[in-house]
Amino acid sequence: MQQQPNSSLIVLIGLPGSGKSTWAAQFGMNCPEGRPGYRTVSTDQIRADLYGDAAIQGSWGQVWARVIDQLRQGAADIHRGDLTGVVYDATNVRRRDRRRFIQTVHALGYPTVAAVWFDFPLSCCLERNRARSRQVPEAVILKMHRQLVATQPSLSEGFEQIWRMGPARLP
Ligand code: ATP
Ligand code: MG
Repeated sequence: MQQQPNSSLIVLIGLPGSGKSTWAAQFGMNCPEGRPGYRTVSTDQIRADLYGDAAIQGSWGQVWARVIDQLRQGAADIHRGDLTGVVYDATNVRRRDRRRFIQTVHALGYPTVAAVWFDFPLSCCLERNRARSRQVPEAVILKMHRQLVATQPSLSEGFEQIWRMGPARLP
């Protein structure tokens, strides 16, 4: 059985504080030997590069243009055999945004797209958010929670697979 996602593009989905970036950093380090690694494209990192601070929202158009540039570069590196895939690290809580994203990346040359869904309780995300140095306003997290609950990730969006990370469910 496949133990971890191996698609050319892995979309992370989850509230602020749900552990996406922590997972992405570990996943990038865990690539099997002899195989090129994964590269993370992070909207927070792009905001930090553009505005000097990941907490500054700035212009979505500007951030998105960088996302596309980095995805295009990633596709070229995968094509050359220098990279296995790209992890897209953003909250991705709205279904219509996820659908559009999948269409965009297919057009950029990524044949397969998987999702990793960080399905941790709201209380857990709020607690982790409070405990870290960069804090997202709680009102923003509550709004995103409503959006994510209303449009939970589904294979019908175009994902070949969805990996759920979260507290174990009782059978
Ligand atoms: P954002 O969308 O705001 O970037 P995020 O989903 O990337 O949030 P992280 O920054 O990865 O969240 O994690 C939030 C906090 O939770 C960090 O302080 C991290 O150390 C902690 N954390 C991440 N994963 C776990 C885990 N599995 N168990 C306990 N704490 C965790
Ligand atoms: Mg993060």
